[in-house]
Order: sequence, then structure tokens, then C-alpha cells
Amino acid sequence: MSFQNLQLNSGMLRAVKRVGYSEPTPIQVRSIPPILDGRDLVGCAQTGSGKTAAFAVPIVQMLKPVKGKRPIRVLALSPTRELAAQIDEEFGKFSHESSLRHTAIFGGVGQQPQVKALQRGVDIVVATPGRLQDLINQGYIRLDRVEYFVLDEADRMLDMGFINDVERIIKRLPKARQTLLFSATMPQAIQDLSRSILIDPVKVEANPQSTTVETIEQSIYFVEGGDKRALLKHILRDPASQRVLVFTRTKHRANNLAKQLSRARIPAEAIHGNKSQTARTRALARFKSGHTPVLVATDIAARGLDIDSVTHVINFDLPNIPESYVHRIGRTARAGASGIAYSFCDVEERKYLREIEALIRQPIEVVSEHPYVSATPAPKRQNGAGKPRHNGASKPSRQNRRRRSRRPRGSRQARSA
Ligand code: AMP
Repeated sequence: MSFQNLQLNSGMLRAVKRVGYSEPTPIQVRSIPPILDGRDLVGCAQTGSGKTAAFAVPIVQMLKPVKGKRPIRVLALSPTRELAAQIDEEFGKFSHESSLRHTAIFGGVGQQPQVKALQRGVDIVVATPGRLQDLINQGYIRLDRVEYFVLDEADRMLDMGFINDVERIIKRLPKARQTLLFSATMPQAIQDLSRSILIDPVKVEANPQSTTVETIEQSIYFVEGGDKRALLKHILRDPASQRVLVFTRTKHRANNLAKQLSRARIPAEAIHGNKSQTARTRALARFKSGHTPVLVATDIAARGLDIDSVTHVINFDLPNIPESYVHRIGRTARAGASGIAYSFCDVEERKYLREIEALIRQPIEVVSEHPYVSATPAPKRQNGAGKPRHNGASKPSRQNRRRRSRRPRGSRQARSA
């Protein structure tokens, strides 16, 4: 299937080519034609599936520039600032030639530049609910001319407690509009919301619900909590670990871990909700450019991050919400690339592992030989999971472990995976 078969006009085909997309992804194939036909749509799509372009491309094609002061005609809501910035960027790529104006509205930064952009007039606004609501209350934003409304990562909106804000915002939209809702998972509350805000929607599923991207190689390491850091360093010293996104349970753990890695001469930065927007943007830019090979993140901060060529996602802590596992590992293997996801699991986290495996409907393969195997025997598993996978040396003796820890810092150790 090519973009030519998706009812795109010649300007948009040029834009897609300039952006460098040679073939549409499955969600784009299934979503672009019905959106161009004016249909409401519910997309169950994982992050990395190309869902942003799946809505940005047809919306930009349908949006004709208006004369005079521009009313907001497209509103896209996103749960996080980073995702809002990325969606705005994607709209920018495709609206380049049609002189449409777009802007991102999110908190954590001064509102003045955003207000200025709004006062000049913008066609497309991508926003997080909190700041949008603030600016509406201050009278800077009117939504009564919106023609296209996109609710992205709706399940995460729910997890983050934004759903009431979202409902309040929706009440300000005109009834006659086209609505597109995207979500990686479809919990009951999102199905209910879809029923109330969409009219006869087309349902599009890019991947079966809650299964993980097939090109991701997933493994689990049973490890004692106290050995997680040593195991992480062991993995990070493998030259293959070039651009690694590490997830921790809390902001505090993310900070500490990034500091400890940097002290061990593994350059790392933390990204989480307590950091200023400037610090987050800077950390992200350094990670994207390859300057900092390791980014330690919490779920919320990493949600929707669009970073190409993440070689590894490492769950330093397993998430207690199984859907977060799907979101996290979706940070690697973006748009068809392959990726690796390792998860560390201590004894307390084994219950989370069971829930994750139930959700993704597959057992995750166990790396049973690594230097820090947990003293508590691995749980019995089915379907071939738990086949011994060799990953580095077998567990070293206590003496070897001491020797290992005295290895010069920063030395690289190849992993014989
Ligand atoms: P998304 O799921 O929208 O976050 O997109 C994930 C990544 O895939 C982004 O880096 C996009 O720029 C990229 N992408 C989207 N569509 C395509 C395509 N048709 N071909 C190649 N890359 C794409």
C-alpha cells in the first residue's frame, strides 16, 4: 500500500515525501481514508504505530486557510507536555506548505509566548488539559469554531486523572465537529467516553488490544532489589546499549539512579514531572542527539516520547499498572524498527509480572543466567518461557562479585548474549 492510494492530494503527497515517509503504517492505511470522508474515528493504536500522522495528515489536508483572524479549528488534547510538543511538531511537518499556523499549549513554562501565539491567531492547537483550561478561564481561548477534535492517548488521560478536565473542555466544543479518539488500551471508561462523544465512529485497530509490538525482544531478569543497580551497569557496559531508556517507579529513584550511573561514568540524565520544562527539553535533546546515552524516566514523563532508535528499554522497576508496560516498551521498536526490552523483577514485583503477562497474553522469556540471579527460585512458568537464556557470565561467587565491583569504572564488558 502506498500513500497514493489514500486519497491524498498532490500537495500532501509532496509533504509526506519531504518528511521522508515512504509507506503508510497500518494505522495510517486504515484511518486516513475514513477521516478524509468526514467520519468520527476510534483508533486503538500503540505508541510508535504512526498514529500521529494518521490524524495530522488528513486534518491538514482538509483544513483550508481562512482570511482575517484565524479561529482555532483543530484542537488536539494530549496528556503530557512532551507528547503535545511532538504532536505539534508533526502537524508542523505537514502544514508547512499550506501556511496554516499551529501551536502547543502546555504548563511548566511561561504562558506569555503561548498567549502571543494565540493572539496572532492559530489554526491548530495541541494542548494539555490543565494549561488549556487556564487559558480558557483567562479568556485567551475560545473553542466555538473547532471543526476537528483529537483526543490522544485517552487511556492515559484517565490514568492521570484528567478525564474531568477533558469532559469540561469537550462541553465547550461545537456539536458539529469531527472527533478522533486514540488510545493504546480501551478500558471501560474510555469505551463509555467514546460512546458519548463520537457519532457512529469507524473503529480502527492497528494492533490487537494490549499485545506488544512483535518486533520487540522482551526478557525478564529475576534479581534481588539490591542488585538491580549492578545488573543495570552490567548491561549498560555492553557496547550494544547505545541509547537506553530506563524506567523507575518514582522520581526520587530516577534522580538517584541517574546520579549513580553518572558517577560510574555512564552518562545519564533523569526526566520526570518535577523537572522544569527547560530541564526536560534539554535532557531529551541530549538523549536524542546521542550525547547522553542513558535517560532515566518515570512513566508520566516518558509517555509519548518520540525518540528514534532507542536500542533498549529497561524496566528497572516493573510498573504496577500492567498497561504501563506496553507503553514503556513501545518506546523502542518505533515505526517498524526492532528493539529490546529488559525488565528487572525482584521478589515483590513478581505479582506485577503475572499481571503484565496476563495482559499481553504471552509469557516473557527469562534470562536465567546472568551475574545477579535472584536467590529466590524463579516461579514455574509455561509455554517455553524460562528457557535458559545466557546473558553474560553465570552468577559469580561472592569473591568474584567483589572482584567484579573493583573493575575499573567505565570499563566496557561485552555481553555474550
Ligand atoms: P507515533 O506513533 O505517531 O508517535 O509515530 C512514531 C514514529 O514513527 C515517529 O517518529 C514518526 O515520525 C514515525 N512515522 C510515522 N509514520 C511513518 C511512516 N509512514 N513511515 C515512517 N515513519 C513514520
